[in-house]
Amino acid sequence: MPGMLRAIVASLVALSFTALQAPSAEHGTIRLHYVMKPIGVERYDITHDAAGLTLSSDFDFTDRGGRVQLTASLQAAADLTPIHFSAKGKSYRFVNVDSDVRFDKGAAVVRADGAERHIALEEPTFPVDGYAPFSVQMLLLRYWKLHGRPQRMATVPGLPVNQVVIEPRGRDVIRLGSRMVTLDRYSVDGVVWGRETIWLDDTGAFAAGITRAGGLSFEGVREDLEDALVTFVERGTRDRIADLETITARTPPLRTGTYAVTGATLVDGTGKPPIADAVVVVRDGRIAEVGRRATTTLPTGVPTVNVAGKTIVPGLWDMHTHVTQVEWAPVYLAAGVTTARDMGNEFEFIVPLRDAIASTRALGPRLLLAGLIDGGGPNAFGVTYATTPEEAAHVVGGYHDHGFQQIKIYSLITPPMVSAITSEAHKLGMTVTGHVPNGMTIDEAVDRGMDQIAHLAIRGEADSPEVEETVAHLRAKGTVIDPTQSWNELLGHAAGTPVSAFQPGILKIPPPLNRLFSNAGTAGIDASTARSRLERGLRIVKALHDAGVPIVAGTDEGIPGYSVHREIELYVEAGFTPMEALQAATIVSARAMKLDSELGTIERGKRADLVVLDANPLDDIHNIRKVRWTIRDGRVYDAAALWRSVKFTP
Ligand SMILES: [Zn+2]
Repeated sequence: MPGMLRAIVASLVALSFTALQAPSAEHGTIRLHYVMKPIGVERYDITHDAAGLTLSSDFDFTDRGGRVQLTASLQAAADLTPIHFSAKGKSYRFVNVDSDVRFDKGAAVVRADGAERHIALEEPTFPVDGYAPFSVQMLLLRYWKLHGRPQRMATVPGLPVNQVVIEPRGRDVIRLGSRMVTLDRYSVDGVVWGRETIWLDDTGAFAAGITRAGGLSFEGVREDLEDALVTFVERGTRDRIADLETITARTPPLRTGTYAVTGATLVDGTGKPPIADAVVVVRDGRIAEVGRRATTTLPTGVPTVNVAGKTIVPGLWDMHTHVTQVEWAPVYLAAGVTTARDMGNEFEFIVPLRDAIASTRALGPRLLLAGLIDGGGPNAFGVTYATTPEEAAHVVGGYHDHGFQQIKIYSLITPPMVSAITSEAHKLGMTVTGHVPNGMTIDEAVDRGMDQIAHLAIRGEADSPEVEETVAHLRAKGTVIDPTQSWNELLGHAAGTPVSAFQPGILKIPPPLNRLFSNAGTAGIDASTARSRLERGLRIVKALHDAGVPIVAGTDEGIPGYSVHREIELYVEAGFTPMEALQAATIVSARAMKLDSELGTIERGKRADLVVLDANPLDDIHNIRKVRWTIRDGRVYDAAALWRSVKFTP
């Protein structure tokens, strides 16, 4: 070959080599946010060589004073076929990660959760252990693009593998001052339960991601794009609401309009004895008629559904939740929950979601919103603070203007600010609930105006004079308590006790959620210690109830849907009658939110929020789990179809 030509060929080879090879090193700094508050960073490095690439990532944040750190590494061939993955540390306060995956010719050795599995890989497979770190999700997307964008992929560790579906959702132009950045937006379904949003730039580098950590919203934004955080949240929200509208279209109500349900045992929730062989006439979302079939005249020409053998109870309430993803909407209806009080969320997410559900464009429970306010500083939660009376008036007014029913006070609010917030809220016709702020007692919190208290913030034994005094004080003040006992049980159970022993619903939830909760629990205690701690709390709940303090059922999320059932069961374990436990999740909750003239019982004129169960919960409270159909505002939904729509097993 003549010298000249040889030189040209050599330079072409060099050129094509450069074009094929990614840069020899990549570095990224991703700012981490919890419920939009900046709380830490992920730094990653990727080195490329002839054999492929090696990623190493340091993921590190501090949430309300608690440090969460994770280190991860990933080696892959030049085409991103994985070779070795490891992750160690924590990805959330109660989520320990210690996994290692070695790939070799269509098989993988997966070590996770203290067990080792040999897995034959049947489809494109990539290692990802939960949402963190974001750089591994970036490589997952690059792998997907390089391998023909398969409709479905597997990820490990899983049970034994997870199914992941990636979808391109469009291109976004993000404006940052005078700079414009064009990004590709993807939804990733299956790394966590439900869809995440991930943005990559034109070089394939991570730009932003929206996911959930331990059930609450979590965002990663590349440092140079930090100012666009709100834009990312708004665009991600738009996709998610569109996803919920798709689920809504695919899961239409079995019945709407005017119809009669006959033959069931009716537990109307007023406390009256059940009515056997009852009839409920629903007309345009309301209860038009209810009573014994023998004595109730059915309007002529009304379609009738015979549900003999079933039991009808009022729609359930979850009085303590954080609906941080749209998948909660079908889950709640499937579990019989027709009203949920959200106790702190991202404003840019929850307001459009509430409105989409209220307009019936999207199915879901009625959402009542409590706007969270904390005291500011590095350990604060969320991004809405009040440290002066002016700030208190401003943020309370802002929530009021957007239709929030309540304010939720968080732990760093100072005593004078409790007074400022509650007086401002009361002026606007809102009520105030929340945590007993740090350094205050529950008695002081209610003396400063709090109408309700979240969690069971009472120490000591139920029969001690101090506790008896507090109970009497709360009774005198008319304070409402949501004691979140199922949440305490979920995190406080002895780590050796399987969650399924008390929460059988865990066997029906999707694998990413299962991995999250099957590791929850308290290490270093035995089952009887855990149980006696729980029982101490239940005795206080019973003492409050006996004194006349309204107890409302709330979960703080827990196992989606099923924790509502567990909360109700725990009240029966505390000594409530099944009727009283049911009322805590229906009429007592409705009364606490001043909506009892519309909701909470099955009475003529009220909204038609009903649950049709396969068995009577007054015979055995566990029957509250046997939801067959849920009726919200007269629209009848099939529980099994709703569970399936978000990958639960009915
Ligand atoms: Zn909460």
